[in-house]
Amino acid sequence: FRVHLTPLRSSDTKTEGIVAVLRDITDRRKLEQMRTEFVANVSHELRTPLTSISGFLETLLDGALEEPEIARRFLEHMSDETERLTRLINDLLNLSNIEDRQFVPNFQPVDMAELIHRVAPVYEPRAREKGLTLMVTLSPNLPPVIGDEDLLMQVLTNLIDNAIKYTPAKGKIEIKARASEQEMKVIVTDTGIGIPTESLARIFERFYRVDKARSREMGGTGLGLSIVKHIVERHGGSLEVTSTVGKGSIFAFILPVAGDLH
Ligand code: ADP
Repeated sequence: FRVHLTPLRSSDTKTEGIVAVLRDITDRRKLEQMRTEFVANVSHELRTPLTSISGFLETLLDGALEEPEIARRFLEHMSDETERLTRLINDLLNLSNIEDRQFVPNFQPVDMAELIHRVAPVYEPRAREKGLTLMVTLSPNLPPVIGDEDLLMQVLTNLIDNAIKYTPAKGKIEIKARASEQEMKVIVTDTGIGIPTESLARIFERFYRVDKARSREMGGTGLGLSIVKHIVERHGGSLEVTSTVGKGSIFAFILPVAGDLH
């Protein structure tokens, strides 16, 4: 609490009382602390690839440039790190757009079946390349949901992208959707590495990763699921996740169906 005291004086300056204003600043302090932590995290995440790029550059300038094979390898690393920076900045911009209070999603009736059938094929080649099967199983006659199509596409994209990233060869990824009169449930199941129970509550936090090295190796930014959470909540929906280490994970998002919103 912040306590603000104002003495009440009568005309002869004798103090007659004190007005005490108590204001709860715990929320504000917490917010400030979160912001500070976020900036520290962002700086760290940006600095890591930059340090790596400048290291390779320096070595190249110091003579490695004369060795074409080494030079090529270094340039490839630099290109990977540049891509990582781009991904990170794109995710940061996405997150800040969604978090912006002024931002109003473009809510419209969305045909989820059509959206899933549009997004899944984009990931087909990557899945196949990794030796994974990607399957889509939708209930017939899915009702429309009210949502922002671009944002919902991002939710699907991030969940499918993770399923592919964290599932080893020969695995299976399935996208399912079903609906009741009130809500639509979209489920992304994988047979991947799974998530330890103690991490489940934290995976939606910005920059939280179960295994930093693995996420990094897979090109992760640590922001995908926090973006998913923001979007789903902005749609009045909710998220569910169940996972078993070594067996796989099930991520589901639930949205109100169109007829339900007035
Ligand atoms: P990242 O860019 O690291 O994938 P996310 O925010 O998308 O960041 O996910 C946070 C963390 O949750 C990941 O680093 C990973 O440890 C875990 N995770 C997310 N999806 C899955 C999944 N399908 N299977 C296993 N682990 C997952």
